[in-house]
Amino acid sequence: MSKRTKFVAGNWKMNGSLAANQALIEGFASEVQSGVDVSVFCPFPYLAQVAGLVKGTGISFGSQDVSAKASGAYTGEVSVSMLKEFGVTQTLVGHSERRSFHAESSEAVALKAVAALEGGLMPIVCVGETLAERESGLVESVLAAQLDPVVEHCSRFVSNDTWNLVIAYEPVWAIGTGVTASPEQAQAVHAMIRARLKAMLGEVVAQSTRILYGGSVKPGNAAEIFAKEDIDGGLIGGAALSSSDFSGIIRAAR
Ligand code: PEP
Repeated sequence: MSKRTKFVAGNWKMNGSLAANQALIEGFASEVQSGVDVSVFCPFPYLAQVAGLVKGTGISFGSQDVSAKASGAYTGEVSVSMLKEFGVTQTLVGHSERRSFHAESSEAVALKAVAALEGGLMPIVCVGETLAERESGLVESVLAAQLDPVVEHCSRFVSNDTWNLVIAYEPVWAIGTGVTASPEQAQAVHAMIRARLKAMLGEVVAQSTRILYGGSVKPGNAAEIFAKEDIDGGLIGGAALSSSDFSGIIRAAR
């Protein structure tokens, strides 16, 4: 099996200020060492500031969304080339808050992932079921419906049996709720996602793709979750806003 480097990504959502961002990054930067990839995803206006703050720390940074379009009459949208001018190398796409508050379809999410890959950015594609869907036994079909368009549109970016794409499994019922999927529940879904990747792209690509877990990860539960075979780190929301909590989660990934 190819080695998948553990990855801890902080999604700041619509939080932060110039002062808070600086204190946050300075507060956890010393935890970043080789062996764990660490990224932060800040609001667009702070990209230039964060670019300066992470210089020389080994921390990567990215945006929380990106347009599928290159340029033009798309008010409020931000393109891949604009992000790259600020040194961005990664972007979230399809976060459940974008899917629910902005009605982003899985097809639209897939096209954002294509735009990112075409421009050389690494998309972190977020997928996950609601509680009602879980309780109705629909986890597998919901995830397939979210994942398949991404694989179909992005498979052309597979090269040498790998691609510059990460998946984040974030059960909607666990995001920002304080309820975490048990390590066993999360592992079961991660294995399901990897099996689907294997069926569509082959064993080697499936084994090389990092799949992060997101949903109320904290320093106290991170190690147990990250220890599972198919869990390659975490996408962290609330706990990414505290340098001590984020530090604890980075340590748990080592
Ligand atoms: C998220 O928004 O991606 C997330 C996982 O949030 P939280 O850690 O707060 O549940």
